[in-house]
Parts: sequence; structure tokens; C-alpha cells
Amino acid sequence: MITELSSIDGLVWTKDSAGYDEARLGFQRLDPHQPAYVVGAASAQDIQQVVRFASKNRLKLAVKAKGHGHLNRLDGGVLITTDRLTGVTVDADEKTAVIEAGATWAQVIEAAAPHGLAPLSGSFPNLGAVPYILGGGLGLMARQYGYAADHVRRIEVVSPDGVLRPAEHDPDLFWALRGGIGNFGIVTRVEVDLFPVKTLYGGSLYYDLTAYPDALETWRDWTRTVPDTITSAVALLRFPDFPQVPAPLRGKHVAQLQLSSLADDGEELIRPLREIGEPLVDTVGELPYTESAKIFAEPDHPGSFSTRNILLSELDPKALDTVRAETQCIIGIRHLGGALAKAPEVPNALGHRDAQYSVTVLSISEKDESKRQRQVLEPFADQTIGRLLNFSSAPLDEAELRAAFDDGDYDRLKKLRANYDAEGLLQPNHPF
Ligand SMILES: Cc1cc2nc3c(=O)[nH]c(=O)nc-3n(C[C@H](O)[C@H](O)[C@H](O)COP(=O)(O)OP(=O)(O)OC[C@H]3O[C@@H](n4cnc5c(N)ncnc54)[C@H](O)[C@@H]3O)c2cc1C
Repeated sequence: MITELSSIDGLVWTKDSAGYDEARLGFQRLDPHQPAYVVGAASAQDIQQVVRFASKNRLKLAVKAKGHGHLNRLDGGVLITTDRLTGVTVDADEKTAVIEAGATWAQVIEAAAPHGLAPLSGSFPNLGAVPYILGGGLGLMARQYGYAADHVRRIEVVSPDGVLRPAEHDPDLFWALRGGIGNFGIVTRVEVDLFPVKTLYGGSLYYDLTAYPDALETWRDWTRTVPDTITSAVALLRFPDFPQVPAPLRGKHVAQLQLSSLADDGEELIRPLREIGEPLVDTVGELPYTESAKIFAEPDHPGSFSTRNILLSELDPKALDTVRAETQCIIGIRHLGGALAKAPEVPNALGHRDAQYSVTVLSISEKDESKRQRQVLEPFADQTIGRLLNFSSAPLDEAELRAAFDDGDYDRLKKLRANYDAEGLLQPNHPF
């Protein structure tokens, strides 16, 4: 069978080839893909050829960029990796970028910065830009500009019949791809808007929760007062007592207030949070957008973890009391609203635009932590109105998946999936 793939420009690995593990594994190592073939595609035409090969041989097909969102192990079948498709082309006059399937946000940021422009990237620039966009994309300027998926102009996709399509010419497909992550084809490139942003005022204030137990409530109350130019979040985490951890944080249970401001008076707007007390560490200041990874300062080590998310209409102080006591998992709460509440001119599948906060629980573990994660999120049940798929790298049951979308949209997505992928060739992380 492998001879059928011999004419592609990209690389092909089977289970006994050197480099197979490196090719199939991504950042998230829990329950990895076990494909019969891994193909490192070098062009859209390679992807078309692999799709036809998989279809003809009735093999399941999955795709991976950087592998942070990995879920739903592929056993046998073909895994397409997009690491070799990293082109980014910026049109400074149009304020747009064309991003190939495997480019990271860091690569897009670097390409846009010389033109005084920035993309709607998120907390961690080493993610694949395309998967992030297909799952919505909640970024550092989200309350000012909305979801990354709201600013997509064009998508080129290889559908399960092997045809390379401009999705923007098919309103159903274009709607479904932006929010429906990977259920409708293999995206080869995306054209997105860029924004005239050179710097942010941002960083993190790390408060010791033992000394300042009210830091979380103060942040919550503050979010109700801030303009849309401020996008912020809080992470509750216990730092290990390791030498690699900065000394003031070692062994501490911390509220990390993660702040990103486009306002001229960012320092003044953030002052109420500095008045909580003496932070263990304060990294907040003016920074070029190219250094935006410093705001959340997330670790860059591959490992086994899983995440579960909910969207909330309100952040109940009683529920906050419960999660503040949680020390096994990391809890991330993001402030929504602002431009996130406005649907784009060309509608997409993202729902629950009235959500005010998002809560994600992250477990670092070699096993499925779904039961515990559901327990951790239980105190928010009365305010839960949906979930974000980008922050859901744990298995969802059908009711949970349905709840990621507005009423009727999950059924529409299911119908479209049945239409575009009648034979069920694709194995996305959350299949409809
Ligand atoms: C540390 C960290 C920080 C994060 N921060 C944010 C954030 O600030 N905002 C946010 O919105 N999200 C965030 N996320 C979630 C992230 O956006 C998703 O996990 C995203 O999928 C990761 O990109 P990736 O390249 O690693 O994806 P991968 O794991 O490679 O892909 C995820 C899934 O996307 C689909 N897919 C991948 N490539 C294609 C393609 N070319 N065509 C069709 N489908 C495809 C597949 O179904 C695949 O399983 C974060 C995740 C982590 C781990």
C-alpha cells in the first residue's frame, strides 16, 4: 500500500521507520495516536493525495499541527502532520495574513510585527494558528476584537472527497469550519485579519492565596468595571517546590492575574489589582506584541494532560470559594464579553456569545480525569451555559458536545458532517 504514497513530496513513516514516534507525537502525550502511516505533508496536493489514499483503502484519517489539542486516538489509519506547511504571507495594505496549516502563532506574530500589525493570537504562541482558529480562538485582545474565527476571510480545505475547495464560496461549509474543528476536511490555509497593534500593557500579578484569599473576588469585581480594551484571566495553581520555579513562587498556592491592555491608561486601569497587596511576582508592563507569551508565561514542556471547559453567564462567589480550595488541578478563568458578544457579519458556528466567563480545569495526569474534572466544575452548574471546544481536550459525551453550540446548531453541524464526510473518513478530536 505504501507505494501508493511514494510520489508525494512530503515524508512518510510506518510503525517500524526511524522517526515514527517523533512524527506522530505532539505536545499533548496522553493516549497518543497509533497510526499505520504518518505523512508529513509538504503541500495541499500532498494532502489531497493522502485523503484519496485513505478513502480508497478505507483508512481513518486524522490531522495534527502541534498536538496541544490532541484527543481521540487514531488506531491504524493515516495521520497527516502539517509541521512542514508553515508559510505565512502578510499583506500590509489589506491588513491580512495567509497562514498555512502548520504555522504557529509565533511565526504569524513575527511576520506581522515589522508592519506594525498583530494577529488575534492566544496565551501561548507555540500553538498551531489554524487549529486554534477552527476551534474559535480566544486571544489576548479578545474583548476588543472578538474570536479569531470571527476574522477569517478565506479558508482553503481538502474535503473528504479529495477536492481542494475555497470554503468561503460555500456558506454552509464556511460557517461549519469556523468553530467545528476538523469535522469537514483538512484545512490547508486560512486568510485572517491583522490589527494595528505594536505593544500591549500586560503581564501577570502573582498573589499568594494564603496571604490574599480575596484576590480572586477582587479580580472578579474589577472585571465588571473595565473597558473592552482590557482582556484578562486568572489561573489558580500550586507551584511545585522545584529549583526550576522562580524562588518566590516555589511551593505556593497562587492566583496568577493575567492582564492584557490596549488602553492608553492601562497602568491606571490595573491599579485596583496592584492594591490587593504585595504580589509574589509582578511582570506587568509595556511589552512588544512579539513578547506576548510573557503575559501568561505558560510552560513549554510536552506532557500528559487534559482540559475540560465551561462557559458561564455569571461568576458565582460561592463557586469561587470552592475552586479556590482546589490544589490538584489548575483552574483557568477568563473574562469574556465585549466584542466576543457580537456575532460576525458572516456567521460562524461559535455560540453562547452572551457568556461572561470561561472556566477551564486542567489535570496533569497519565489517565482520564473526566470524573474529577466534572466534580471540580460542579459548583458552577447553575450558571453554566455552554463550553469552548478549544479548551476541551478531554472526552465529551454527546450532550456535552451539543452544549458547546447554540440551540439547533449541533444538529446542523451533524447534518453537514454527514453530507461532507458521508463515509466517516475523518477522525477529528470531537467528532459530530
Ligand atoms: C498551553 C495552552 C494554551 C492555550 N491557549 C489558548 C488560548 O489562549 N486561546 C484558545 O482559544 N485556545 C488555547 N488553547 C487551546 C488550543 O487553541 C487548541 O488546543 C489548539 O487546537 C492547539 O493547536 P495545535 O496546533 O496544538 O492543535 P492540534 O492538537 O495539532 O490539533 C487539534 C485538532 O485540530 C484539528 N486540526 C488540526 N489541524 C487541522 C487542519 N489543518 N484541518 C482541520 N482540522 C485540523 C484536528 O481535529 C486536531 O485533532 C491552548 C492550549 C494549550 C495547551
